Amino acid sequence: MSELAYKRTNVYEKADDKLLQEIFDYAKGYKVFLDEGKTEREACAFAKEQAKLHGYKPYQFGQKLSVGDKVYYDNRGKNLYLIKVGSKDIATNGIRILASHIDSPRIDFKQVPLYETDGIAFAKTHYYGGIRKYQWATVPLALHGAVALKDGSVIDIKVGEDENDPVFYISDLLPHLASKQNAKTLAEGIGGEDLNVWLGNIPYTLAENEKDKTVKENLLKILFEKYGMKEEDFLSAELCVVPAYKAKDVGFDRGLMGAYGHDDRVCSYPAFTALFDEENSEQTVMVILADKEEIGSEGTTGMQCVLFTDLIDALAQSFGVSSAQVRANSKCLSADVNAGYDPNFRDVCEPLNTAYISCGAGVTKFTGARGKGSSNDADAEFIGFLRRIFDENGVIWQTGEMGKVDAGGGGTVAKYIAKMNIDTIDIGVPVISMHSPFEVISKADLYEVYLAFRAFLK
Ligand code: MN
Ligand code: MN
Repeated sequence: MSELAYKRTNVYEKADDKLLQEIFDYAKGYKVFLDEGKTEREACAFAKEQAKLHGYKPYQFGQKLSVGDKVYYDNRGKNLYLIKVGSKDIATNGIRILASHIDSPRIDFKQVPLYETDGIAFAKTHYYGGIRKYQWATVPLALHGAVALKDGSVIDIKVGEDENDPVFYISDLLPHLASKQNAKTLAEGIGGEDLNVWLGNIPYTLAENEKDKTVKENLLKILFEKYGMKEEDFLSAELCVVPAYKAKDVGFDRGLMGAYGHDDRVCSYPAFTALFDEENSEQTVMVILADKEEIGSEGTTGMQCVLFTDLIDALAQSFGVSSAQVRANSKCLSADVNAGYDPNFRDVCEPLNTAYISCGAGVTKFTGARGKGSSNDADAEFIGFLRRIFDENGVIWQTGEMGKVDAGGGGTVAKYIAKMNIDTIDIGVPVISMHSPFEVISKADLYEVYLAFRAFLK
């Protein structure tokens, strides 16, 4: 790859038939996860089922853990911890941690969403995470989520995924009438309060008087018949609007894959499959599938919650050792995506320090913005350790920053883990069009990240 500014190995260029087959086979399993787990709730449920199939049992605080135990902690159905207790001394060897997130940018219903105007019923929304709003108009949308009723029961909702399901929609102007909108910036073209989701337009009435017919009443009738829910139940609902399509191969050669929410399921999937496939590792391993990363890792299910250290404390107590000592000797890969180099927008990247598509796992020493601000700037020594284990295990990897200096920036869960005195570094799959309704990755990079995680857990 002589055109690349710094020597990198293109995985597809190097791959023999066997490796190519492994890459493509592995991507098939990932596709199932993408299609089944579009929200943190669904991704958490999927990974939990996989964990059960691999012999993982539910963990409860107070329970003593022993060598050989494989447990999961399901945090409110949105955040999953998988723990495998290895034979190596936990005090001196620490824990090998893989931390990824399973929430993705999307559009949420507000708590009072329904309204009708001019014969159309809509839902008001508030977007979740950093989206470019204009990208979410005129694409088929599905509705996923949960409605908590007053009696304590929870209704799961998923509409728009079955071939026969209807989908939902956010409209945009036709070019013929868009001259005023075209003069706005991309950021202003579609505003936050313009992201109103089309829900229906057939009026109905329960009353005798035809004048009382409304579309909203019809919607409420459908919702009650289908889910037994009433309008006030939206108050205690989490309804997420996500793209309605499935993951697809991209390009004639099928080397790339497009999907909603690669960020960060493209690192979550390798994290838990690497754990299952390194069954005989002597390390104590913790795999974290976190929620709320896209809004700052806040809340009970985000990475800033003390649950993380509570679980490490529980492990340490089980062996009668100091939690501080366990953390001091632990190592973490903050498994998250980074911006992949896009030749159509090359001016935002600095070519020497950018992750290239199909050139393997992307290691990011620091994220942040404006002079590495708010970043976990990983130690050179820790990168040295990773270089050794990756090279020993034939992992193809590269280094990459999030764009040019001062072009923008971003963050991950890395700093919250590093804060607990745990060596942490970001590593993941380079993504094209990150946070859009259809992100693109290389299947080769997905597989190399999986191999990198296996090497780390060995
Ligand atoms: Mn991410
Ligand atoms: Mn993100």
